[in-house]
Amino acid sequence: MIIILLGPPGAGKGTIAGEIKKEKDIPIISTGDILRKAIKNGSDLGKEAQSYVNSGKLVPDYLIMKIIEERIKEKDCKKGFMFDGFPRTIQQAVDLELLFKRLKHNIDQVFYFETSKNTIIERLSDRRVCTKCGAIYNLNYNPPKIKDKCDKCGGELIQRDDDKEETILKRLEVFNDETLPLVDYYQKQNILTKINADQDLDDRFKEVEARLKELGLVGKK
Ligand code: ADP
Ligand code: ZN
Repeated sequence: MIIILLGPPGAGKGTIAGEIKKEKDIPIISTGDILRKAIKNGSDLGKEAQSYVNSGKLVPDYLIMKIIEERIKEKDCKKGFMFDGFPRTIQQAVDLELLFKRLKHNIDQVFYFETSKNTIIERLSDRRVCTKCGAIYNLNYNPPKIKDKCDKCGGELIQRDDDKEETILKRLEVFNDETLPLVDYYQKQNILTKINADQDLDDRFKEVEARLKELGLVGKK
């Protein structure tokens, strides 16, 4: 199963990906996570990507495609994978199509998480992430049991550098300009499902799950 999670920052793509993974154990490929890790480690990729990520701009397509091709060729991707935060531009979608042609892969479904601006700003400013395992919390509706500590691994919770209000607005603008055209692109291919992402997590996931079942991608038909 190969699926793409598309939506503005704060739409809950990462959280939904985690929920899907409980039902279908395939890796979540988050280009954002890969980039943040590279930046933290100070690798060549990290050095090249740092200024883009920290200012909320998009990392150049060629770098992203290199990351993706390497990642999906790893063993754990044999049974499929989920993309979270990729593709982000029409160029990346076109490059992905070429790559998939070469590798004989198919996109099963694209989920577009439609969200209002207010929801996004609220969710992102209250978002905290675990520095150790990447788990995502929200101070309002999904707080950790102990302040600033991860329930799962005890790691420290922090606010991402790019979750500050002015960078959020920049990322939203970039999303509308660069990524939104992908909705049309995938709709034309008849592989897009829209999800109302203003709903709470349970309802969002129920919609996704129902569609995955309908498509015969998880559970019984
Ligand atoms: P969010 O979805 O919350 O904006 P991500 O973790 O997906 O956050 O991405 C964080 C940052 O990483 C982006 O603002 C951008 O700089 C960079 N990035 C992630 N994925 C891509 C991509 N596919 N193409 C270009 N830049 C990307
Ligand atoms: Zn953790």
